[in-house]
Amino acid sequence: MKYISTRGGVAPQTFEQVLLTGLAPDGGLFVPESLPRFSRAEIASWRELTYPELALKIVSPFVAGEIPAEDLKQIIFDSYAAFADPEVAPLRRLEEGEYILELFHGPTLAFKDFALQVLGRLLDYVLKKKDQRVVILGATSGDTGSAALAGCRHSDHVDIFILHPYQRVSDVQRKQMTTVPGDNVFNLAVEGNFDDCQRIVKAAFADQSFLPDSRQLVAVNSINWARIVMQIVYYFSAALRLGGPEQKISFSVPTGNFGDIYAGYLAKHMGLPVDRLVVATNTNDILHRFIANNDYSISALSKTFSPSMDILVSSNFERYLFDLFDRDAAKLNEFMAKFGKETLQVSAEQWQRVKDEFDSSTVNDDQTCAVIAEVYDTHGVLLDPHTAVGLKCARDCWADKRVPMVTLSTAHPAKFGEAIKQAGLESPSLPEHLADLFEREERYTVVANDLNAVTDFIKSNI
Ligand SMILES: *Cc1c(COP(=O)(O)O)cnc(C)c1O
Repeated sequence: MKYISTRGGVAPQTFEQVLLTGLAPDGGLFVPESLPRFSRAEIASWRELTYPELALKIVSPFVAGEIPAEDLKQIIFDSYAAFADPEVAPLRRLEEGEYILELFHGPTLAFKDFALQVLGRLLDYVLKKKDQRVVILGATSGDTGSAALAGCRHSDHVDIFILHPYQRVSDVQRKQMTTVPGDNVFNLAVEGNFDDCQRIVKAAFADQSFLPDSRQLVAVNSINWARIVMQIVYYFSAALRLGGPEQKISFSVPTGNFGDIYAGYLAKHMGLPVDRLVVATNTNDILHRFIANNDYSISALSKTFSPSMDILVSSNFERYLFDLFDRDAAKLNEFMAKFGKETLQVSAEQWQRVKDEFDSSTVNDDQTCAVIAEVYDTHGVLLDPHTAVGLKCARDCWADKRVPMVTLSTAHPAKFGEAIKQAGLESPSLPEHLADLFEREERYTVVANDLNAVTDFIKSNI
């Protein structure tokens, strides 16, 4: 399998090359030259597989021959052995046809563990083989940072720098990052918002001359293709347990950078019978405005109870746009060059295709709290605010009740106590392995919202 850039300016790359970078050198994102397709019969034959066995089936074609099957199997099996639920991604039924897919049983209590547990082991495997040392640099709106640290910090071959927006992540999220020990671990609190962090990271990747020659930056954000691949698996897993592939399934996905729902889109185009894909947004609703109104324009950032979705520009959306422009990199370049300067629209025909592919809705903080309270009262289930946004949007968009609707539950409620309290409920306690989180010592450095402040810090700490 070879990978190409959405901006069309890079020769096809191997999985290993794509794993060890971030954005493509031309500023685009890597996507596979073509997607593997599975027949219904093949998908049906996977019904009895465990989660790691299923993951191996789905991921193997993307790695195609670059990592021996036995080694890949070991990496995947080790990654999911650390999950607290034996099913890894259990489904919970709320109402007839209405399900929650619990993706928060990994070490850091958010779905990001699904990809980053594997990514950390993949990096370690490849870097060991090449006897190479790299610098991991990532921006986080909260959950990526802790999952990246948990997944990658054990490697002797990496130094990790994670940027988070100063005072804009939840206490639990911050503590989960800043209490991670290790002299290869650095947390930077940037005096700005998440998009500022993301911009600094992008700029550092674009010009890596501040690093010594032997080093390069590796991305752990969802622009890293390996992350996306691992997220395709749970769409198959959920569908198989609900009668797929004979039965179609719909999914609602709390969306920020569009990585998670993009994985669902890929699952569908790899042969999984998916009916609707709901892009669930909070009041940072650029994607909803695009899907509902053909209006792709930046608005002001609002701070919500679902901070991991407080994102102005969803980086992975470019991967979908590339397909929407029939993989014409020149057209995509033209579109992206205008982005941020004017309100962008796609053609009527393209917009129809967008609407055929996705539904969307937007949910504010009051509605989020109302859903949390209502689901707790009715079912005794405590939702985190991101999941609550997802469920509300699922209900807004669920037209065909014969098709099961699965909302991805992206985080454990204990990570977001503030929203739970606002919903009038008692904030749940953290699972046992994190029970002493608030007693652990924190380490982080506050830095200016400035590229050089960040690159100087990296330079003097590797
Ligand atoms: C990262 C995250 C999201 C958004 O996922 P994207 O892949 O960025 O769209 C939603 N909910 C939670 C809890 C997250 O951590």
